[in-house]
Amino acid sequence: MDKTTFVTRSSMPPFEEYMEEIRPIWESHWLTNMGEKHIELQKQLCDFMHVDHVELFTNGHMALELALQAFEMDGEVITTPFTFSSTTHAIVRNNLTPVFCDIEPEHYTMDVSKIESLITDKTRAIVPVHVYGNVCDVEEIDRIAKKHGLKVIYDAAHTFGEVYKGKSVAAYGDASMLSFHATKVFNTIEGGAIVCDDENIGKRMYNLKNFGIREDEQLAEVGANAKMSEFQAAMGICNLRHLDEEIAKRKNIYELYMSELQDVKGIKLCSPQEGLEKNYAYFPIYVDPAEYGADRDELFSRLAAEKIYPRKYFYPLITDYECYKGKYDDSGLENAKRIAAGILTIPMYADLEEETVHKICDIIKR
Ligand SMILES: *Cc1c(COP(=O)(O)O)cnc(C)c1O
Repeated sequence: MDKTTFVTRSSMPPFEEYMEEIRPIWESHWLTNMGEKHIELQKQLCDFMHVDHVELFTNGHMALELALQAFEMDGEVITTPFTFSSTTHAIVRNNLTPVFCDIEPEHYTMDVSKIESLITDKTRAIVPVHVYGNVCDVEEIDRIAKKHGLKVIYDAAHTFGEVYKGKSVAAYGDASMLSFHATKVFNTIEGGAIVCDDENIGKRMYNLKNFGIREDEQLAEVGANAKMSEFQAAMGICNLRHLDEEIAKRKNIYELYMSELQDVKGIKLCSPQEGLEKNYAYFPIYVDPAEYGADRDELFSRLAAEKIYPRKYFYPLITDYECYKGKYDDSGLENAKRIAAGILTIPMYADLEEETVHKICDIIKR
């Protein structure tokens, strides 16, 4: 029987486990506004990542948007065009100007050799993305930022559970945003967080997600409503218990793909990065049309014809979307343009059957 396979499938805890977790919410009638579950998840995440400050949000996007607000910036922000719209939207919605830096062709993160030429007297921050969970060159970005007095705020949406050189990937930079959206490795249905090591920024984040309300009933700043509810936090508490198992299952799928696809002519895979413990969030393949004998869109159609739906993630490039096209300089983005035209993320989730993995690989090899 033919079944449909999508690029991802949300991980869920056993039903009874979640029921048990939300029972106290029925008893307390405390549904949101930083209740018991919220506090508990926050603490568990601090322990899990070995960090001092984790602020929870209703989603990753608002976490990033409010983090940029918390640093009180104006002017320009250097970022990558090879990302999900959220990264750029968060910058633009803060009235900051995105300046797009090209990516490097191995792991598709920001090309650090091109950052300094984009710095002007208006530059305030760098917002790189650990795309697909591939870690950026954090040391070099840190060096450049310190030299020029810039903040570094990472879009670490893809990295939950990852450790780089003994430290949580989200612990790098002045702040990092994590997404706990349903499609991510770890989910709270919708959800997100900011990790930072500055207590003042942590406090500001707390206020900003709650309308800017201060304890003394003062409105000190123009905040938003971006609080994580008790039901979201309860889902997180349950899913966190199963995270090791989730990542181990993904690792198995990853290894199958690697062994089957690494020698396919014209298909480029991301190589492992030294010092990085991966979470196996995505499996991107780059299709080189000249070598492969077909382009990305043809491969996409072949897979779709067999009810397998990969995603052209990230295509189009941010600078090619209607709302951004022509507004910002998109010159010098040669790698990003080429990769966006050839990239395909193929199905990757914990419960993906090995049989389906083999089927996908067979279609790609054909
Ligand atoms: C998922 C994602 C976001 C946004 O996270 P949400 O929790 O969905 O708001 C931001 N950036 C990237 C790269 C993402 O993949």
